[in-house]
Amino acid sequence: MSIRIGIVGCAGRMGQMLMKEVLDGQGVTLSGGTERDGGAAAGQDIGELLGRGKLGLTIGTDARALFLASDAVIDFTAPAATLAHAKLAAELGKALIVGTTGIDAAHEAELRAAAAKTSIVYAPNFSVGVNLLLNLVEKVASILDPSYDIEIVEMHHHHKVDAPSGTALGLGRAAAAGRQVSLDDVAVRQRDGIVGPRKTGEIGFATLRGGDVVGDHTVMFAAEGERIELTHKAQSRAVFSKGAVRAARWAVGRQPGLYDMSDVLGLKA
Ligand code: NAD
Repeated sequence: MSIRIGIVGCAGRMGQMLMKEVLDGQGVTLSGGTERDGGAAAGQDIGELLGRGKLGLTIGTDARALFLASDAVIDFTAPAATLAHAKLAAELGKALIVGTTGIDAAHEAELRAAAAKTSIVYAPNFSVGVNLLLNLVEKVASILDPSYDIEIVEMHHHHKVDAPSGTALGLGRAAAAGRQVSLDDVAVRQRDGIVGPRKTGEIGFATLRGGDVVGDHTVMFAAEGERIELTHKAQSRAVFSKGAVRAARWAVGRQPGLYDMSDVLGLKA
């Protein structure tokens, strides 16, 4: 039986990639897509939006109707919209895949509450490569002592609104976990002016924005005399949409809970 997948925020950069992935995928059917009320894309035919000719599926604004028509919904939108969608997923018992970044701790608690009632996969990065990198970073950080300064550099396209990227923060959390500290206690998210010498044990972040860069992340471990750098570069948004659709297939019929991509990929020890 085919799994019915709906896409909220379907006219966005990721929304369009996700719809193409579902339309071209085996064993999955596109149940529809929604956009913001009053947005330019609402009412348009999905096939025409994707440059594939009329499909007979119209972009709606009624998220509840889309959830009812779907087994799983994929959400790459914005934090406030994602929380509203999480409440609907919990109420209607539908799987939800969340790629939205910039979700703060209070919002994450709401997401967790919704996940008590349904399966939610939440990942700041759905690429297989980055999820492998998260594992490697935790391992390297657990081996090297704090004389190795950890710095995380990321670059994204000029449309991105949140900084540092959700993936950079996730890499920071992985490094902190490897050192058995909390990222909140050691993170330095920006530096400007006379900030004084670097403190041992800090995990620093640097954010670059420009052009059409899909997503570059480097984690550096810099000591006196040597430096280790682990880098991932996403060259196409398709790596995220492929991972999210894989997560949707995995999440349908799963016990309620808040899962991440390492659960989907079986990377958890
Ligand atoms: P975008 O601005 O192109 O798309 C977001 C879309 O969501 C827009 O079309 C917007 O109209 C729509 N939207 C907003 N509120 C809505 C609502 N209430 N109902 C329906 N639609 C709504 O942005 P993007 O580049 O596609 O990125 C979207 C999000 O996904 C960002 O948070 C980004 O950081 C994140 N992202 C995550 C990954 C990952 O792997 N987790 C990868 C890429 C991007």
